Amino acid sequence: MSSIIVVGHKNPDNDAISAAVGYAYLKNELARRAGEEAVFEPVRLGPLPPETEWIMGERGIEQPRLIESVPEGAKVILVDHNEMLQSVDGLNTDDLVEVVDHHRLGGLTTAQPIRVNVKPVGSTAAIVAREFEIEGVELPESIAALLLGAMLTDTVIMKSPTCTPVDVDQVNFLADKLGIDAVEYGMDIFRTRGGEDKMPIA
Ligand code: MN
Ligand code: MN
Repeated sequence: MSSIIVVGHKNPDNDAISAAVGYAYLKNELARRAGEEAVFEPVRLGPLPPETEWIMGERGIEQPRLIESVPEGAKVILVDHNEMLQSVDGLNTDDLVEVVDHHRLGGLTTAQPIRVNVKPVGSTAAIVAREFEIEGVELPESIAALLLGAMLTDTVIMKSPTCTPVDVDQVNFLADKLGIDAVEYGMDIFRTRGGEDKMPIA
């Protein structure tokens, strides 16, 4: 079977890349559980933001491959976006198999029904973390730290107006699992961007 890429939007932020890595991991685990080939590959459309590079370095997570267009013959899962304009070059919606996102729907049309998981929450990472729970797949500490980091950046450490009780629950769940303080972890993450002026008001 050919590969299925899991890709966030262009000019990727921490959520776009972390959600892709986390979701590809989950899909591969589900495939193995079903006795199928693990063909899901997280990819990215631009450089890693500094905080993503830091978390991946700390946790020993392999950086997703940089691509410029859809690889020949690959199917596609979109995360953290659903609008063609923000998406990977060369995307044919016939090759789209799934969307996992927390943004407004932007006019996507497909020839076949696809799996769509869109929720009005603070980050795609929160949706992905919840899917691990729903599917009963063990979340490794490395992926938990990555997803928690993305939840904290997208919600500006739970201060953004987009942050919902679902996000707070997921943040607390993962921070407990990792045995760390979520707000302190969030501040460490924002510090990697450099410049105190970019720090969220605690
Ligand atoms: Mn994003
Ligand atoms: Mn996001």
